[in-house]
Amino acid sequence: MRRPLVAGNWKMNGSLESVRSLLDGIKRGIGDVKSAELAVCPPCVFIPEVQKLLSGSDIAWGGQDLSTESSGAFTGEISASMLNDFACKYVIVGHSERRSYHAESDQQVASKYAVARAAGLIPILCIGETLEEREAGTTNEIVARQLDAVIDLEGIDALANGVIAYEPVWAIGTGMTATPEQAQEVHAFIRGRVAAKSGSVAQGLRILYGGSMKPDNARELIGKPDIDGGLIGGASLKAEDFLGICTAAD
Ligand code: PEP
Repeated sequence: MRRPLVAGNWKMNGSLESVRSLLDGIKRGIGDVKSAELAVCPPCVFIPEVQKLLSGSDIAWGGQDLSTESSGAFTGEISASMLNDFACKYVIVGHSERRSYHAESDQQVASKYAVARAAGLIPILCIGETLEEREAGTTNEIVARQLDAVIDLEGIDALANGVIAYEPVWAIGTGMTATPEQAQEVHAFIRGRVAAKSGSVAQGLRILYGGSMKPDNARELIGKPDIDGGLIGGASLKAEDFLGICTAAD
């Protein structure tokens, strides 16, 4: 049995004050969540505060990105060891906003994945197609290419107990959620591709769905056999909505 994971990607949102009240709300409501694992990925400047507020709780935290380099003249970058200094468990790699606004290639994302794992962090590998790619019928080809970049660099064992987030780009922040059937189809494709190399790795791999997931569509999505939770953007900024999704994942 894979333990469902619901991870909040706060992106570039919030203030010290809003972080405190959001986490206060989540901590107060978490008693209703029995089996799902929860995590939040704040902007990096808030990670020390998040660590302070969540230490000793059942909620994990992580970064939204990391550098492939370990230190040096890389202005604005954050290394894996810096994330470790603040006890991060997870780090998102290859989010579509990084791929498109920062031109991150599949190979760079694969390197980030490898660096994160080598440092003991659990990378959440984001993959997904654009609307044009879906309409052109190339969804599977695109997610296969993004997935294979990691497998080619690191081997299939890199995905052992791993986390992938299937995030159709057209569904992110748009309110246009993939239907549970559309999402399940791609999740099954991803698991099948991994299973072709290792059945046990495929069984343990958590594949999250991301893209306008809300409390009212979460249950149906996460109810599908290959959907093991969610990577949540907008709805992770409101305690009630985030908890609603977490309860659905339970
Ligand atoms: C995301 O950016 O990872 C995401 C899923 O965003 P949203 O939930 O707002 O669509």
